[in-house]
Amino acid sequence: MQPFSYTKATRQSDALAALRANTNAALIAGGTDLLDLMKLGISAPDQLIDINRVELADIDVADNVTTIGALARMCDVANDPRIQKALPALSQALLASASGQIRNMATIGGNLMQRTRCPYFRERAFPCNKRSPGSGCAAIAGFDRGGAIFGASPKCIAVHPSDMAVALVALGAEVVIADGQSDRRVAVEDFYLLPGDTPDRETVLAPGELIVAVNVPNSAAARRSAYLKVRDRASFEFALVSVAVAIELKGTTIRSARIALGGVAPRPWRIPAAEDAVIAKRATAANFATAAAAAMSDAVPARLNGFKVAMAKAAIVRALATVTGAY
Ligand code: SF4
Repeated sequence: MQPFSYTKATRQSDALAALRANTNAALIAGGTDLLDLMKLGISAPDQLIDINRVELADIDVADNVTTIGALARMCDVANDPRIQKALPALSQALLASASGQIRNMATIGGNLMQRTRCPYFRERAFPCNKRSPGSGCAAIAGFDRGGAIFGASPKCIAVHPSDMAVALVALGAEVVIADGQSDRRVAVEDFYLLPGDTPDRETVLAPGELIVAVNVPNSAAARRSAYLKVRDRASFEFALVSVAVAIELKGTTIRSARIALGGVAPRPWRIPAAEDAVIAKRATAANFATAAAAAMSDAVPARLNGFKVAMAKAAIVRALATVTGAY
C-alpha cells in the first residue's frame, strides 16, 4: 500500500479546503470500500481526509421530503421507523446490502461512491479500462456472467453494485453536492455516467466536491415502494438482478409508477417503457407481464448472462405484484 498522510476534518469547510489543496487526496468515512481498494493497490491516495466528525449524519423526515445526511450510516437509515414507513424500498435495499457489520460502518455517501465489483477490476493481473485506461477489458472475452445487459460499451461492461442507488432512482431522489461556494442538486438517475470511451469516469462529481445529503420526495408512491434483489446466495452478495418500484394506486388502477433495475447496467437502470406500460392500467398479472417484456425489449446480453433477461422479467412482475397486492 502506498504511504499516505492522515487529516481529520471536523467541519465541512475544512474537509473541502483539504480536498481542494491536494488533488490526490481521498475522503474517508466508513472506509468499507476504499480501504479494500487501497490494499489492492487500485486506489492510491497520498492523503486521507477523515470526515467522520463532520456533522452530516442527520435524517430529517419532513412533510414533502426526507433529507438524509451523507454520513448517516446504512444501518441507521435502514432501521429508522420513519424511513421504513415513508420509503420502504430504501430500507429494504439497504438491508439487502452487504453484511450487518458493514452496514454499521458504511455511509450513504460512500454507498453512492462505491466502485464496481467486476472481478477483473479488482485483480491487477488483468487488463481493465476502468482501472487502467487503455489497457483493455478482460471481462468482454472472459467471465461476463455478472456483466451489463444495458448501457455497456466496447470498453467496459461492468455493472454498478449499489442496491440503495437503485431504490433512490425509483424514489426520484437527488444528490446534494457542495464545493465550498454553493450546493448543487443532481438527480440520482443522472449522477452516474455510462462507460462510453471513458469507463474510469463514473459519476458527475467533480474534483473538490463533496456529497452532503440525499433528498428523497415523500409521496404516496414512495410509501407504496419495494425493493427485490436476486442473488447467488441469501446474504452478503451483490445483485444478479434487482428491481425497485414505487407505485401510486387509485383503486386497482396505477396512477404513477417509477421502476428501476440493478445488476444489469453500469448505473441504476430506469425503465420508462415498463412505467408507461402500467400507468393508467389495472394492476393485473397480464399488464405486469407486458411491462416486463417492454422493459427488456432492448436488452443486449453478453455470452454468459442471457439468464438476466428472464430473471429481470420475473423480478419486475413479482415486485409490481408485491406493492399493488394484485395477486
Ligand atoms: Fe474493467 Fe469494466 Fe472490463 Fe470489468 S468490465 S474488466 S471493470 S473495463
